[in-house]
Amino acid sequence: MIKKTKHVLGISGGKDSAALAIYLKRKYPLLDIEYYTCDTGKEMDETYQLIERLENFLGKKIKVLRGAEESHIDPFDHFMKLYGGYLPSSNARWCTKNLKLVPFEKYVADDPVVSYVGIRGDEEREGYISRKPNIQSIFPFRRNIWSEDVINKFLSNSNLEMVASLPEQVDLGKAKNRIVSILTKPTDAGFIQSNKLNQLLDAGIKETNYLIFEFLKTANYPLATETYFPLLENEEVLIRKDIFQILEDSCVGVPAYYNKVDFEVEGKKGQYARSRSGCYFCFFQQKIEWVWLLEQHPERFKMAMDYEDEKAGFTWNATESLRELMQPERVKQIKEEYVNRSSDEFKSPYLMDILDDAEAEGCAACFI
Ligand code: SF4
Repeated sequence: MIKKTKHVLGISGGKDSAALAIYLKRKYPLLDIEYYTCDTGKEMDETYQLIERLENFLGKKIKVLRGAEESHIDPFDHFMKLYGGYLPSSNARWCTKNLKLVPFEKYVADDPVVSYVGIRGDEEREGYISRKPNIQSIFPFRRNIWSEDVINKFLSNSNLEMVASLPEQVDLGKAKNRIVSILTKPTDAGFIQSNKLNQLLDAGIKETNYLIFEFLKTANYPLATETYFPLLENEEVLIRKDIFQILEDSCVGVPAYYNKVDFEVEGKKGQYARSRSGCYFCFFQQKIEWVWLLEQHPERFKMAMDYEDEKAGFTWNATESLRELMQPERVKQIKEEYVNRSSDEFKSPYLMDILDDAEAEGCAACFI
């Protein structure tokens, strides 16, 4: 028996996944989406508050997934013990694997799953793509809603002949001649897959989506079993400002840690905030975000410090411990450097432009 495809959306606690849930509920109310969140046990309070508000808006429970659910302590602490107190870092991300990816893959098991991911149209990152063939990612905010692996196969020269026959099965309207001429042209060093994809999307986003949907039926993707997929018609591209708009219009609101807070250093005015969701001690934080945590959530900062073992070299930052970072002279220096670096950019209402680099870096499973 063919299993029914499940549609899921992971709520990270960040703005983009929350906005995606609202967007899909409003625009495609007939899509039966299951929502889940992977709780590390170490999120900011604002994340839990956002999840509660979202549940009210969606009228559905958001399923909470936890790594090591049989453990009597928080998932993060459980794995931290297993790793002998070795803190995760960008080079050793045991946290993302054990607290996000493994619980998610366990939750979907072998069911065919379409997973909606809130990567925006103004971002370059690709997001989480499961190696499990039963999980297919869709990116509704982008012009290209398909994942890299689908596009690679669709535009592969080895599939050229079969793909070139697809326009006979799809109504491409006025765009047909243009699309056929692009589709039948092989890629090479001067005409790479991204050029070909962009040309196809320029010729017709909907038409390209219908072709890819038809192509999926020749492969073992979860959407291959669906007869209809409403997002094929979606031509909208959403960028950061749209995300804030969606959150505000829905009254779900923006997680409070994105809101800027004024500070003053050596007579200069500055503003800081946190740039993303995830664990309060996340090692992807910028130094100014650690200062924000120290000053705005001192109890959290202290808890983050308690995880460090300076003698063993286990610190959240490679270059300094939190004990060193919290010294008044060091705090002043971090603030000054930050104000100087970003003095022209304080026009953004949520500081996201200033912390832009931080947002782009890091873990798509935690920060979308
Ligand atoms: S938020 Fe940071 S510390 Fe937490 S699981 Fe994700 S990468 Fe690891």
